[in-house]
Amino acid sequence: MAAKRKPLIAGNWKMNGLKKDVRALAGGLAKRMAMTKRPAFEMLICPPAPLLGFCVDAVKGSGVKIGAQDCHAAEHGAHTGDISAPLLKNMGCGYVIVGHSERRTDHSETDKEVKAKAEAALAAGLKVILCIGETLKERKAGQTLNVNRRQLRGSLPTGATAANTVIAYEPVWAIGTGQVATPAQTQQVHAAIRKLIKSKLGANEGDKMRILYGGSMKPGNATELMILPDVDGGLIGGASLSVADFWAIAEAA
Ligand code: PEP
Repeated sequence: MAAKRKPLIAGNWKMNGLKKDVRALAGGLAKRMAMTKRPAFEMLICPPAPLLGFCVDAVKGSGVKIGAQDCHAAEHGAHTGDISAPLLKNMGCGYVIVGHSERRTDHSETDKEVKAKAEAALAAGLKVILCIGETLKERKAGQTLNVNRRQLRGSLPTGATAANTVIAYEPVWAIGTGQVATPAQTQQVHAAIRKLIKSKLGANEGDKMRILYGGSMKPGNATELMILPDVDGGLIGGASLSVADFWAIAEAA
């Protein structure tokens, strides 16, 4: 029987939000979460790095968790502008996203670098959300499963377990475009990811590991994605900037 996996609803604010937005957005979610008895989902928000401390304070005691959008692979040192995983942990973060397609594109991050960042995060005691996903060109070339398997093999951190690592399948063509993967497309890739995880980490870990979908998830399409057997929540960009929309997606879980 498949393991029961608690859905993770993760918001990626990307490079959006100012200090003045923290109270309404993080505080608003914290308020709703605090009023929810035994929520059926885990909620996480990943604001821009300078807002992390403010968000940690805004959600204190509510059960909402805070994560970062990236970290450096080194523990400390001469890396101007970068942020270490130990500092994120020290700031009160529980998670860090690594390998988001915008970082793979904007900063030419390779699977090897993503793996190193994920391993640094695990070493610091953070949980990892590891993003993978194919471009439209790759999908059209019939390479979807190959690309996702290659990225997963290349960037899954040593030491990954179902307790410390979450995979986010984010088709690049669906991110911020309003174009969402169909349930059939989503389930096909998620099932392939789970199969690969099982072969690498064993059936038990593979059964328990959460696999999120990301790419234009909205209240209107969340249910059809969330009910799929291998979808265990969402990584949400645009819709995470609205308390009402993000909460509605969480309720769909
Ligand atoms: C994302 O940033 O990971 C994402 C999925 O964005 P959006 O929901 O806006 O497509």
